[in-house]
Amino acid sequence: MTTITADLKKEVKKAPVRGMMDNVMEQFNSAANHINLHPNIRKILSITNNEILVNFPVKMDNGDVEVFTGYRVQHNSALGPYKGGLRYHPTVDIDAARALAMWMTWKTSLAGLPYGGGKGGIKIDPSKYSESELERITRRFTYALADNIGPEHDIPAPDVNTSSQTMAWIADTYMSTRPPAERSANQHVVTGKPDGSGGLEGRDRATGYGVYLSIKFWAKKNNVNLKGKKYIVQGFGNVGYWASYFLEKDGALLVGVQDAYGSIKSANTIKVEDLFNYAKANKGSIVGFPYSEPVSKNDFFSLDCDICIPAALGNQITSENAPFIKAKLIAEGANGPTNVEGEKVLLERGIAIIPDILCNSGGVVGSYFEWLQNRNGEIWQLDEVMAKLDKKMQESFNKVYDYSKEEGIDMRTAAFCIAIKRIEKAYIQRGIFP
Ligand code: GLU
Repeated sequence: MTTITADLKKEVKKAPVRGMMDNVMEQFNSAANHINLHPNIRKILSITNNEILVNFPVKMDNGDVEVFTGYRVQHNSALGPYKGGLRYHPTVDIDAARALAMWMTWKTSLAGLPYGGGKGGIKIDPSKYSESELERITRRFTYALADNIGPEHDIPAPDVNTSSQTMAWIADTYMSTRPPAERSANQHVVTGKPDGSGGLEGRDRATGYGVYLSIKFWAKKNNVNLKGKKYIVQGFGNVGYWASYFLEKDGALLVGVQDAYGSIKSANTIKVEDLFNYAKANKGSIVGFPYSEPVSKNDFFSLDCDICIPAALGNQITSENAPFIKAKLIAEGANGPTNVEGEKVLLERGIAIIPDILCNSGGVVGSYFEWLQNRNGEIWQLDEVMAKLDKKMQESFNKVYDYSKEEGIDMRTAAFCIAIKRIEKAYIQRGIFP
């Protein structure tokens, strides 16, 4: 393990600016090398199937028209329809959409779902728009995507800054623009809907619950008792909140939180529900939470803790901050939060990483349950959903953990190897048309 000295702190170079695609491609290639992936299949998987870019006008509350840019990238559909979220964030661009779509392909494959991978969103800061503007933006984006999405073709879901409300608007717009006889059969064009509109009970907590389960399974394999263990969370949205909620129930102590507005820490513990209620009343921001002190953005990842949960955006753990991380376990609630250089430092220091495509896969597994529920005209109960999710997460976790031990490789490479092998098998069985 590297000892952190003031000299080392000075020596750490500024992380090179790299796109998310560089990260996902390096992760893919190192797993592809490990399993000796067939070169033709490597060629196919190295590039996306379809990329849709739409510019669309929307009338603002003041009568002006703004033109927005939206993306949907469909990476691969060898195992089934494209699946993956839509995010509303200023960092959304073609590079991010491609990388995130690829991660979805590996995630759905690893989880054993009948899906491929897709991702998209709008380059926008949603905090600058009113609720009714966001509704019109979402509806017009859906209309612009038209038949590029569909319940058996490409099924979006919530992601950063999109919610069950966003999904309800998409479903309603999509269904309203179908011929009358087909409308209600299209409800599963999106997942993550509110539970009054075809949504699944428990889909809201599925990702965070999966993150918590991954930590619990890891702790069990490593004889670690979660009671009294300290954890920090970057991002207190849906994923960060629910992961914290379940960890707290097991007696773990939340000692630091960072959101888009600032970072806080506590020498004792931050009560998850109190922070949630505080943020709700404080325009979504955790800043100023009474039982805490502020921390600078740069010092957040070096807070004293046992578990670190990055649950916000990509490229957060880099070679700049990785040398100072105190946690022994990183549980990736976000997609792509650790870049390749950051990961190298963590692994050298003996820090374990539960990779995103495993750790946050509870969300898409929940989406699959919702899709099945809609397709079959069923309504599932919460306890049934949680039990099924638990079983699925345990299976995936064991596969990745055991393979990483057998092969002597890190958990990310193991997860990628399993995911890629499943797709390779489908291509080998079916061949290439024509
Ligand atoms: N946006 C989530 C993810 O990155 C969920 C995707 C889905 O449910 O389709 O996994």
